[in-house]
Amino acid sequence: MGDVILVLGGTAEGRAVAQALLDRGIPAMLSLAGRTSQPLTVGPVRSGGFGGVDGLAAYLRTEGVSAVVDATHPFAESMTFNAVQACGQVGVPFVRLARPGWTNHPLADQWQWVADHEEAARAASDLGEPLLLTVGRLHTLDYVDHLRDRRVVARVAEPPSGVLPPRWVLLCARGPFTLSGERELLAEHGVTGLITKDSGGSHTEAKLVAAAEQGATVVMIRRPEPTEGLIQVSTIEEVLDWLP
Ligand code: NAP
Repeated sequence: MGDVILVLGGTAEGRAVAQALLDRGIPAMLSLAGRTSQPLTVGPVRSGGFGGVDGLAAYLRTEGVSAVVDATHPFAESMTFNAVQACGQVGVPFVRLARPGWTNHPLADQWQWVADHEEAARAASDLGEPLLLTVGRLHTLDYVDHLRDRRVVARVAEPPSGVLPPRWVLLCARGPFTLSGERELLAEHGVTGLITKDSGGSHTEAKLVAAAEQGATVVMIRRPEPTEGLIQVSTIEEVLDWLP
């Protein structure tokens, strides 16, 4: 058994865990999917997919990984699934760190909760315009067919790979977002509906408050169901306590 902790990241939590481990003199490797051109990083970093469950299992063996902390985004379902499988195969302890979602948010009962992007796109097509779409770069294109002729402001950290319809406005911006900034954005475009996902946390929460103030309908995509039997924690302290 080696002594490197593999931190699956791509989030602020991933960087914070890696930093907390390094601060305590515990060797940590931060793993990123390699999707963003200028990622924020902490300490030693590896980048790019592992090649599915088998690729990750091989990595865990060859690198002598002693535990895996999965701090990927709450919607990064495939990575979490693969990591649970690979850790099970190799016998490496695994913990999932996920920031709490917004199901208990004071505004949550005003939102239209949907199961996935398909349902969100159908719900969005019943709304007016303009719509603010904040569902991530990869999923933005899932909405093109349903909202092709609608005015849509699509906000993403980096541009999506496909072409957006002519009536769509692309905004490239990375959180955290302030309440005053979100108020300004929604007012400037006259946004009547917001389509987003239950990312949780405070960095992207302000738009929800601004939408309520403006009377905009919010379509909120639920988080994927957590894999059964998973050890899930929501703070870095809990991760440190859990470490084998
Ligand atoms: P995903 O669907 O769960 O992952 C797809 C594939 O990307 C995985 O099977 C894996 O490839 C690779 N991958 C994902 N995260 C990785 C990591 N940390 N290190 C190495 N490989 C990784 O994930 P996603 O939703 O596309 O998100 C990709 C990354 O962006 C994640 O790291 C996530 O934390 C971050 N992110 C996602 C969102 C979101 O809304 N989904 C938002 C902010 C940040 P292999 O099968 O080849 O190993």
